[in-house]
Amino acid sequence: MNIIDGKAISASLKEALKEQVAGFPEQYGRVPHLVVIRVGEDPASVVYVRNKAKACEACGIRNTTLVFPESIPEEDLIAVIGNLNADPDVDGILVQLPLPEHIGEARVIETIAREKDVDGFHPYNVAGLWQKTPHMAPCTPKGIMKLLEAAGVDPKGKRAVVIGRSNIVGLPVAKMLLDANATVTLCHTRTVDLPSVTRQAEILVVAAGRAKMMGVDMVSPGCVVIDVGMDRDPLTGKLCGDVDFDAVAPIAGAITPVPGGVGPMTIACLMENTVECFLERMSTAADERLQTEE
Ligand code: NAD
Repeated sequence: MNIIDGKAISASLKEALKEQVAGFPEQYGRVPHLVVIRVGEDPASVVYVRNKAKACEACGIRNTTLVFPESIPEEDLIAVIGNLNADPDVDGILVQLPLPEHIGEARVIETIAREKDVDGFHPYNVAGLWQKTPHMAPCTPKGIMKLLEAAGVDPKGKRAVVIGRSNIVGLPVAKMLLDANATVTLCHTRTVDLPSVTRQAEILVVAAGRAKMMGVDMVSPGCVVIDVGMDRDPLTGKLCGDVDFDAVAPIAGAITPVPGGVGPMTIACLMENTVECFLERMSTAADERLQTEE
């Protein structure tokens, strides 16, 4: 059974980042600083935000977590982000989603300065992905591409099927697979006869948010299966993915487990994006200094 060990791959990425960051105080006078904003007490968000802080600690990245009550007015949250945008000691800003209903997610995301958008959700970064101009790549799709690379899977010329067309997973990962020269089919709830489509796949990315929806009848032998889902098994209550792992793993060419697959890679890529934002800001600051000297 060829399991793609996201936990181990993310650990080595974080180790490499830790070494890189260790040299920053001497080179730049400080380490990168990521600010994570949580609104309310949604239990999943509490865990995700805590895991992001732990990852920062592991990589030597400075982390500040700001927690606001569920009732915070949208304008106040926007003002907080405005201040963080202007703060020269802040390199990355992440607002944990989902937000309470009275706060417009799009407006909040648009407020984050493009150069501090570690999640890659700002419209300029999204446009950059689709127009192939410089951009910050979204963490989960970036993590998926790294998992494929680490497993020795080159998408070039392969038939890739993505299930789910959300802005944060399905759509961007389909674009990244296309850019890596796969032939991509994007499926969704209106797709007719899904199994006949998924059985064509040599690479299958499942991001539907439906516990164990992908059975062995939907996968061809040898297919590389990336399970993005993070669900609860309705029978056991345990964390599981969109793929019935026990049934599919024996026939898959390679497969990611849940937990321990895409999840850890998403956080490792967030750390990488934070370092990228920091380095870009340091280089812009150096250019500006040079211009004033001239
Ligand atoms: P979403 O609800 O925004 O989108 C789900 C997509 O799946 C939609 O496009 C929908 O059309 C499609 N879909 C749903 N049921 C389907 C079905 N039966 N057949 C075909 N298509 C179907 O969800 P999302 O934010 O993209 O997240 C998807 C899953 O990935 C969730 O379980 C989420 O928790 C997980 N997730 C994991 C990570 C991670 O880091 N591991 C990150 C983001 C999301």
